Amino acid sequence: MAKKSSAKKSAKPAAKKSNAKSAQYVYTWGAGKADGNGGMKALLGGKGANLAEMTRIGLPVPPGFTITTEVCTYFYAHKKTYPKELQAQMAAGVANMEKIMGTKFGATDGTPLLVAVRSGARDSMPGMMDTILNLGLNDSTVVALVKATKNERFAWDCYRRFIQMYGDVVLGVQKKEGEDHEPFETVIEGFKHEKYHQDIEDSKLTAADQQELVKRFKALVLERTGHVFPHDPWDQLRGAAGAVFGSWMNDRAIVYRRKYNIPTEWGTAVNVQAMVFGNTGDTSGSGVAFTRNPANGTNEFYGEFLINAQGEDVVAGVRTPEPVLKLKDQMPKSYAELLKVRATLEKHFKDVQDIEFTIQEGKLFMLQTRNGKRTAAAALKFSIDMVKEKLIDWKTAITRNPADQLEQLLAPIFDLAEVRKAKVIATGLPAGPGAATGKIYFNADRAVTAAEKGEKVLLVRVETSPEDLRGMIAAEGILTARGGVSSHAALVARQMGKVCVCGAAALQVDYDKKTVTVSGATYGEGDFLSIDGTAGTVYAGQIKTAPSEIIAGLIHGDKAAQATEKFKSYVQLMKWCAQATKLQVRTNADTPEQTAQAIAFGAVGIGLTRTEHMFFEGDRIDAMREMILADNLGAREAALAKLLPYQRDDFYGIFKALKGFPATIRFLDPPLHEFLPNSTDQQAALAKKLGIDVKKIEHRVHELHEFNPMLGFRGCRLGIKYPEITAMQARAVLEAAADATKAGFKARPEIMIPLVGFKRELDLQVALVHEVAAKVQAEKKVKISYSVGTMIEIPRGALTADEIAHTAEFFSFGTNDLTQTCLGMSRDDSGSFLGAYQESEIMKKNPFASIDQTGVGQLMQIAIEKGRKTRPDIKLGICGEHGGDPDSVKFCHKLGLSYVSCSPYRVPVARLAAAQAAIADLKK
Ligand code: ADP
Ligand code: MG
Ligand code: MG
Repeated sequence: MAKKSSAKKSAKPAAKKSNAKSAQYVYTWGAGKADGNGGMKALLGGKGANLAEMTRIGLPVPPGFTITTEVCTYFYAHKKTYPKELQAQMAAGVANMEKIMGTKFGATDGTPLLVAVRSGARDSMPGMMDTILNLGLNDSTVVALVKATKNERFAWDCYRRFIQMYGDVVLGVQKKEGEDHEPFETVIEGFKHEKYHQDIEDSKLTAADQQELVKRFKALVLERTGHVFPHDPWDQLRGAAGAVFGSWMNDRAIVYRRKYNIPTEWGTAVNVQAMVFGNTGDTSGSGVAFTRNPANGTNEFYGEFLINAQGEDVVAGVRTPEPVLKLKDQMPKSYAELLKVRATLEKHFKDVQDIEFTIQEGKLFMLQTRNGKRTAAAALKFSIDMVKEKLIDWKTAITRNPADQLEQLLAPIFDLAEVRKAKVIATGLPAGPGAATGKIYFNADRAVTAAEKGEKVLLVRVETSPEDLRGMIAAEGILTARGGVSSHAALVARQMGKVCVCGAAALQVDYDKKTVTVSGATYGEGDFLSIDGTAGTVYAGQIKTAPSEIIAGLIHGDKAAQATEKFKSYVQLMKWCAQATKLQVRTNADTPEQTAQAIAFGAVGIGLTRTEHMFFEGDRIDAMREMILADNLGAREAALAKLLPYQRDDFYGIFKALKGFPATIRFLDPPLHEFLPNSTDQQAALAKKLGIDVKKIEHRVHELHEFNPMLGFRGCRLGIKYPEITAMQARAVLEAAADATKAGFKARPEIMIPLVGFKRELDLQVALVHEVAAKVQAEKKVKISYSVGTMIEIPRGALTADEIAHTAEFFSFGTNDLTQTCLGMSRDDSGSFLGAYQESEIMKKNPFASIDQTGVGQLMQIAIEKGRKTRPDIKLGICGEHGGDPDSVKFCHKLGLSYVSCSPYRVPVARLAAAQAAIADLKK
């Protein structure tokens, strides 16, 4: 098993791994040397790989070892047992730590070695996995620790923390149904009230208090689990490692993996590391920081720390941490050292780092580094700045901007005029930029329910924890009363691109009453609040939003917006994209406005115009209905003649907006019944308007009724039965093109016949188009450059593409219908089971959002190969919703399509994804 998966690994095997038969399950680091390195994230997890890397580049990292992800895989494949070699390898790992630290695991004499047991998946999964600190303490070793450190309070504080964490994470001593507080916290609170008659800070507890708490904690563990707390450090260590592996399958981890498409097979590693202590007194502390500001991208050291605390305290929100800049005054030497580390890390990793550190009696230790999660705005600024600083080149800069995050930059901000009138009711920390307005809910479940009903929701919490994840995903924005910029809420918001204001201390949230009271007013669930996550402001009520600087600059030509740094950076990024890309981006647009927007976003044509949308406006629908209700050719042609000028004007407007770029125009596609009114009232009104008997309408509606409209009388089938519809549409397109040419601008229509499965279908329709074209050119006395092709959207069309390509000058993959027909799954009906399918991992992603590459993708591949065999230069594109999905765009690049087409606002996303795909090719 171990062998099989190691073949897939990109990282080189460790130097130490000679030709010994048994696999290496444990990788050590410490004192400047490491078995692993930063490239081995698949095997060592992100945390372990980077601890090894930091050790290699000479940073102060406490020694330790990583138990590989292969052990996790083995663990789940073998009924939660371990490979037999593991125990000996772990013993060697512990011995290595003991040697470097000069301490001994389980020592009752001298200084005992204490360890942290830390999870470490390949990608960081904030808050999902549990870490246990101070492991190795028991009634005997704690005495040794007191003696060695002469710091009684510290030693007992560690022991108390250890039992609490271990009891919670490993032994499952947690809140039961109906309990409001964690049981250990209840014990602490009870004790504080008993002895001090009030709630005092943990740091005020004396050694004797901690000792008493240890006693009560152990009693609690015995009561809840029926077992005494494990005494033997090795039992503790095995138990903790097992719990980390076990947490890979807990609910929260599963929800997170699903959201981010992380495969279950990856597994987690376990890191065992010598403890260093931030809780020995006032010359010690713990902190977290980013080498630059991850919310807005400013090049400033950004983070927070707590004096006399262990790391968990910083993110737990129990005490409010101080900005890391204050360390400059409080511990100038450590601060200077930290700044040096900051520079070293950025230079080495060539990216912004998110670090965790501890200072023990003035000495700095690095406990973690990883590429920092960032908002889209920060990612943009980082990437542009780092090119200027010559840390990275422009191609790397493109890859630093996640395509699926780019939309954040286009997200609305509050309307300036409206926001000036709005009432500020609180301020907090700007943790996730953007503007959000919505109805408030205080718990994740209710937020999810409301969002499912289509409400815009703000999740309001005192602080968030991983249990709130579902609610956070459903909400437009997140507002918390407590917690700093590295709190759970901030972290998750940044990653998901949610608007977030955290630590708005003025909010008094009452979960029981379901209210929040602030600035003298009380708001209940369902009331509106608005938050500005760029400024950290909370407003009463609903506020209208306005377009972002980028939209304002691009679409509205707003000069002030164009002068902003964000706008300029965006333009620079897109320039680079244009330089790198192979795959072009077109847009799906039905109106001149949409077209103009897409062109402003950089689209180079229309990949799909859905002509039917044009039939719904104003009184056109009447002419359309008249056509459908007509019972002879003459009447139908008369109705169509009324539609012709409308269509011609529409196309003319679109050609004008296109500024010479091509437009693929799809002829009528939906079933006719979609155009007729359903209710009896509407039918009666229509009958009156058209001066016909309502019975006739009822009859026609009945006649057109279909059991399965998706597979019914639609697409080219309409034009086959009623050629006059195709003829009218062809005339409208070509006359508009002729008029455009006469008016002095170029029109390049590409007429697209939908739903073709048989070559003969296309032949008939194309002949008709050519016939009309000949007439129009003669009438207008201009030559029109146009082409005729088809949409490949049913499997038979893909499979017989070689035949169809004799007639089709281009193919456009209609991946919406191609997915429906390939999977035999109606998009509109799939909602009832797709969730379960994704949960059961039958498909990782919604196939209607991201192309099913193995199934639908194969049909595409067949069609491309066969199409090219007949017509080597056939133009190939895609026009399904998938055209705006980064993974699908990358897939289309791989297939060698010439363009993707997507809705106007997805154009930037597609352009970025296309450029990234081209760069990935270069790096191969
Ligand atoms: P997470 O993945 O949730 O961040 P970590 O394994 O990084 O969990 O541990 C959380 C915190 O515990 C760290 O930020 C650090 O402050 C503290 N910690 C972890 N390892 C050690 C250690 N060896 N010595 C002291 N503190 C540690
Ligand atoms: Mg960490
Ligand atoms: Mg279709």
